[in-house]
Amino acid sequence: MGWFENQKERNEAYKAQKALEKKEALEKGEPSTWDKIKSKAQESMDKAGAIADQEKARKKEMDDQGIPYCPKCLSTSLSAQKKGGSIVKGLVGGAIAGPIGLLAGGIGRNKMDLYCMKCGNKFRA
Ligand SMILES: [Zn+2]
Repeated sequence: MGWFENQKERNEAYKAQKALEKKEALEKGEPSTWDKIKSKAQESMDKAGAIADQEKARKKEMDDQGIPYCPKCLSTSLSAQKKGGSIVKGLVGGAIAGPIGLLAGGIGRNKMDLYCMKCGNKFRA
């Protein structure tokens, strides 16, 4: 029985050692990992908030100036699609060819189909 007892004791000691290591790892590792996760989450939330504010401001500016923009990605790189399917070139950049440019192009006041060259979104403006 001597060998068996010895082996059993070793096993117990090994288990106890492992348990202790695990406990130490938990005590050491968890709070800092959790803090990292928390601060990361906070950081990305702050960033998202800042971006949302920027987008709001940008939207308002473009609405005020009557610049057509993609409702999805807010890009002003748009193509106008006339009935019949021909794409009006030269609409790149709302500032260059805003509604005035559209009027000058003889498209008129009617809403028309616009195509976002950045994200491919199709919408009416
Ligand atoms: Zn877009």
